[in-house]
This record gives sequence, structure tokens and C-alpha cells, in this order.
Amino acid sequence: MESVGLDLLVEELRDTFESGKTRDFSWRKAQLKSLLKLLEEKEEDIFMALYKDLGKHHCEVFRDEVGVLIKSVNYALDNLKTWMAAKKVYVPLAAIPSSAEMVPEPLGVVLLFSSWNFPIGLSLEPIIGAISAGNAVVLKPSEIAPASSEFLAKNIPLYLDNKAVKVIQGGKRVGEQLLELKWDKIFFTGSNRVARTIMSAAAKHLTPVALELGGKCPAIIDSLSGSRDRKVAIDRVVGGKWGPCCGQACIGIDYLLVEEKFAPVVIELLKATIKRFYTKREYISKIVNMQHFQRLSNLLKDPAVAESIVCGGSIDSETLFIEPTILVNPPLDSDIMTEEIFGPLLPIITLKKIDDCIRFLRGRPKPLAIYAFTNNEKFRKRLIEETSSGCIAFNDAVIQYACDTIAFGGVGQSGFGQYHGKFSFELFSHSKPVLRRSFLTEFSFRYPPWNERKLKF
Ligand code: NAD
Repeated sequence: MESVGLDLLVEELRDTFESGKTRDFSWRKAQLKSLLKLLEEKEEDIFMALYKDLGKHHCEVFRDEVGVLIKSVNYALDNLKTWMAAKKVYVPLAAIPSSAEMVPEPLGVVLLFSSWNFPIGLSLEPIIGAISAGNAVVLKPSEIAPASSEFLAKNIPLYLDNKAVKVIQGGKRVGEQLLELKWDKIFFTGSNRVARTIMSAAAKHLTPVALELGGKCPAIIDSLSGSRDRKVAIDRVVGGKWGPCCGQACIGIDYLLVEEKFAPVVIELLKATIKRFYTKREYISKIVNMQHFQRLSNLLKDPAVAESIVCGGSIDSETLFIEPTILVNPPLDSDIMTEEIFGPLLPIITLKKIDDCIRFLRGRPKPLAIYAFTNNEKFRKRLIEETSSGCIAFNDAVIQYACDTIAFGGVGQSGFGQYHGKFSFELFSHSKPVLRRSFLTEFSFRYPPWNERKLKF
């Protein structure tokens, strides 16, 4: 679509927004209910699209996308009235008699970019927030997951208000054309590289942005005592590495930090768990396309990295399959340890003492998440206080994505702007302070002519 066509389309959305329709509680509620209907009635089509794009098993799709979205829509429906309500706030003595409140208002017409790895979840989750907050929306899904993009473009107009929510399909060029237009907020999920383009384009119109980016999320495994804790921890590590989209996940585990003497035990447990979980090829997604397959294969071609493989390592370009692969101590300056892996390769970095992980993490960009498997409360406290990340989770990985009551988002290189649950509502709203005064009391000390008595008042 040419940018003049896009112009008209955004104009239509702006007219809808200006009509005041999207501000109504009943409109927002009806849209959320329709979204729920879409998820329920089109579940099979979503399974099919994600199978085509990523070879995802339908259980995985329900766990990570459809199920999470149904929960999110229901949560928004249950809380919408409270979120929309004005919040009374305290007024200082200097302003009495008066009252004040914070009133949320929608921003206007917002632009959402989503990525290909959770192409339905990462498109609809921000839509839930944008609609709840009363905005008109344009969604630009990723061209790298074409079946999912097509699904969204076909079905969103059938369920949501077509005059307020639009899907524009396309790649880089369409993205650039959209960025030329004026928006009231741009919400972007994707890479740091494209995020720079988004920010520069947004600067032209002083458009606020939220950037949901990636990074290298570490998981620290303390030498857990007790075989049950160890088993649960390793199940969760395997689930948090290979479970979501075969490691192609922004909050998936990128690498492990383990105490040297505990590493052999961890490796053996990991190998056994991989074998227990992935009894069939179809239980693990494929690499999204040849470009990413080659990128990941190239990481393994570095001779020093290849030497560090202790499990897996086989690749199949015909099916775009890369076996779950474990590496021990690949060079810290190799690409596998400096770039976001975004695939099924798991480096283990060994440390003399587990506390050394703090210095290790502080010397690197702030990740989207830090995971630590430990029962040591003192160590947990140190990690919370002495490291920085989008979030920190203890004794599990990835599950924080599904918790509506906690914010989701990055810090530093992993992005900024938090969403999910009420945080999505806030992200797509302006919290407007409203101050109401009466004419009753007036203090002359506020005004000239000045004198010493007024200064002391
Ligand atoms: P990407 O940056 O290549 O693409 C993201 C979106 O931007 C797509 O819709 C794409 O079409 C569009 N785009 C690409 N080039 C553009 C340009 N020049 N102008 C305008 N739009 C353009 O990212 P990706 O490959 O889809 O996703 C992978 C990255 O996203 C990883 O780094 C991952 O960590 C990150 N990610 C983050 C989250 C999160 O919630 N924080 C979730 C998923 C993925």
C-alpha cells in the first residue's frame, strides 16, 4: 500500500477517535469481548498459522499464545471499570480548599509493530491494552511469520471495529512508510537495530515510543541441595530454553551461569531432561527461516565454539531443525556470547563461586530477564539489589510473562515502557491531573506587592 493510501487510512482512524466512540466504556468492553470470541472461534486457524510459520505444536501455541491471551482479555474485562476510573489524590495545604484527581485519557491513534516469534500473542497483547485505554490502532505484524500475519489481517476486521482497528501487512518498506506518518504512540516489539530506526522516525513528530527489545537473559543455577529441587529446576531450565519457540524467545534463557564443580551434574541432568521432554521431533518448533538458520549455524562454525559443544550440534537445513545444543565455556568474546542467540543453543559459563555471577552480569548490557535457581535468601537479595534487568525471577523462567499483575518490559538495552494488565492500560493512556478549586478562600501572600511579612508566611 502506498503512503498516500496509508495517509487516508490513518485519517479514517483519527476521525473515529475524534468522534469519541472509542472512549466509551461500552465500546471498549464490546471490543474486548469480540477479541475473546475471535480467540475461541478461530483457535484452530491460529494453531494452523503457527504450525505453518514456526512448526509450533498446538499445545505450545495454547500455552504461550491463545491461553495467555484469553487470560489477558478476561483480566482486562474484569478490571476495565477500575482502570478507567478517576483516582482521587491528596492536595497539599497550599492549594486548599480544592480536590484533585488523576483522570486517564486515551492517547489517540497508536501504531503497533510486532515480531515473528509469538506473532499472535505479541500482536494481540498490546491491542488489548490499546483498546482498553480507548485508542484507535494500526497493527503492523511481522512479514517473517506470513501465515500469522495473514490470519490477523483477515480476522481482526471480522471481529473488531474496522473503523478503529486496522492491520497493515508488509515488511521493512511498509514499516518505513508507516513511520513517516504522525502517531500518538508507537509500540515496537523487535530488535535493537530496528528500534533505532523507530526512535529516529518518532523524533520527527515527538511521538512517544515503547520499545520491547531483546538481549541475553541469563539463568544462574546455584548448587541446589535436594534431588527434587534439582529436578524441578532443570525441568524449568529446559522448558525456559527450548520450550518457547525453540529458544527463539526474548525472555527465553540465553545462557547458564553455574559453579564449576556443579557443572557436570547440571549437564547430565540437562541431557536427561531433553531426552525425556523431546521424544518426538514435533514437540519442538523449527527455526523460522533460512536466514536465521544460517545465522545460528554460523555461531557454531567458530572452531573455538564448535570445540565447546558437549551435547547436540546437529543441524538439518531441509527442515530448518537445529538440535538442542549445549556448549561449555565458549570464548566470552565469540558471537555466541556477545550476540542474542535466539535459538536452541545453550552455552554454560562456569564460575569459581556462584557469587561471581554478580560481577559477570554487571559487566554486560542489562537483559530483559535474569533467572536464578536458588534457595539462598541472602543470594537472592544480593541479586535483586546488585544487578539490573527488566525483571528477575527466582526458581522459574518465562512464566512471568503470564502474570498480569506484574509489569513486563525492559531496561537499558532491553527496551523501555512496561505493559501487561493495568500497565498496558497505563502505557496507552495519559494520566491527566485534574485540579478543582473553589472561589471561597484566597491568600493575598501569593501576589505582589511583595514585603517581608509575605516571605515569612
Ligand atoms: P525486527 O526488529 O526485525 O522486526 C520487528 C518489526 O519491525 C517487524 O514488524 C518488522 O517488519 C518491522 N521492521 C523491520 N525493519 C523495519 C524498518 N526499517 N522500519 C520499520 N519497521 C521495520 O525484529 P524481529 O526479528 O521480528 O524480532 C526479533 C527481536 O525481537 C529479538 O531481538 C527479540 O529479542 C525481540 N523481541 C522482544 C520481545 C519483547 O517483548 N521484549 C518479544 C519478542 C521479540
